[in-house]
Amino acid sequence: MKKVAIIGAGASGLLCAIFCAKASLDVDVYEQNDKCAKKILVSGNGRCNITNREISPNDFFSNHPSFVQSSLENFGFKEFEKFASEIGLLLDVKEDGRVYPLSNEAKSVASLLLNYAKILGVKIHTDTKITEIKTLLAKYDVVVVATGSQAASHLGGNEDGLSFAKEFGHNIIPTYPSLVQLHLDSTIAHKMSGAKMYGEVTLLINHKKDSTCQGDILFTNYGVSGFAVLDLSQRASMALMNFEHVGISINLLPAFNAQKLSAHMSNLAKNMPKFSVTDILAGMIPIKIAHFLLEDLKIPHALKAEEIHTKLAKKIANAMLNWRFEVSATHGFRHAEVGGGGVDVREINPKTMESLKQKNLYFCGEVLDVLGRRGGYNFAFAWASGYAAAQAITH
Ligand SMILES: Cc1cc2nc3c(=O)[nH]c(=O)nc-3n(C[C@H](O)[C@H](O)[C@H](O)COP(=O)(O)OP(=O)(O)OC[C@H]3O[C@@H](n4cnc5c(N)ncnc54)[C@H](O)[C@@H]3O)c2cc1C
Repeated sequence: MKKVAIIGAGASGLLCAIFCAKASLDVDVYEQNDKCAKKILVSGNGRCNITNREISPNDFFSNHPSFVQSSLENFGFKEFEKFASEIGLLLDVKEDGRVYPLSNEAKSVASLLLNYAKILGVKIHTDTKITEIKTLLAKYDVVVVATGSQAASHLGGNEDGLSFAKEFGHNIIPTYPSLVQLHLDSTIAHKMSGAKMYGEVTLLINHKKDSTCQGDILFTNYGVSGFAVLDLSQRASMALMNFEHVGISINLLPAFNAQKLSAHMSNLAKNMPKFSVTDILAGMIPIKIAHFLLEDLKIPHALKAEEIHTKLAKKIANAMLNWRFEVSATHGFRHAEVGGGGVDVREINPKTMESLKQKNLYFCGEVLDVLGRRGGYNFAFAWASGYAAAQAITH
């Protein structure tokens, strides 16, 4: 019976283990942590955005995005849904295509995968960190590297998979944190820590508009977070890695244009002359943000509405729709949900995930230079690549 060693009991490793064990192979999974699937457990704020109904290579960043095509064709949403239903994991498909477990609990996903693997006879060795890949390969017929990326080091994120790949001469695409918060070079922004609102963020690379996202924006004591920021963070992180100038423009009221907004403020000021300028803004944006926006513009908070002349209304409106900050860094791998870069996929067979440098050595999941958008795509590739490796190993 073929002996298989899988390094990493995360999403891709567990799925690969299950399909290898279903074909009656002898499977050992080595996990450095005391507990398996720690990233699944925290994913999607404890709800686990498990996959997406619509998946295409466009949902992935990689030096070679077409790499994902064949594995996702063989194990995309339909196949994942079938597998999930076999183990009783019912899915809740949201209107926008995101998929969650019906239980709404990441815990149920981790627990079902783990228990199914154990029932199939997979031997799971927790608290066991693999340090020598060549020794492991000598002991087993097949070794699967499913060690993930450096993201979220407190959950097990590390570079081990990259070191293993290098031992076999693999090229590594430089890694960077993604789905990560951004540091802003602005004390005003830091002072707004805790303030949150829905808005639009535009990423500026070398002062040119790069991409725009709408969603929650959360100010923190180091910069900004929130979905609008996380969605831009891949491009921002890459640009920072390449020493480009990175900035953001925040539009606090995407439903307005400057003319409409300044006219609204001027009218309100006329009707409520005894209001302060802070009162005028408080009806549209959180007071904390209004307070520091005015501080940034050097406008006294107590300025009476009757003193808001047209030019001043325009100045405030422009700042609300295009508030610029310099990005100094990302919040780093420790806080990132995922990591970009990784093992160069040109040296991996896209159908089997086998290394083109070393026979019987497989790589799957986030250790590869494949990064998904937010929306369940990272798990989608973890499942698809784990399945592709298992199919190749068992045939
Ligand atoms: C906070 C957070 C929320 C997320 N939410 C979502 C979401 O909702 N939807 C989504 O699609 N993606 C989400 N992700 C991303 C997703 O979790 C990962 O893309 C996915 O887990 C990658 O699977 P993997 O198998 O490649 O690696 P992992 O799941 O990271 O598993 C790798 C495993 O290998 C182990 N390991 C590493 N080195 C060794 C070694 N030398 N020896 C033994 N074991 C080792 C690690 O401890 C780890 O358990 C989230 C990530 C984080 C951090």
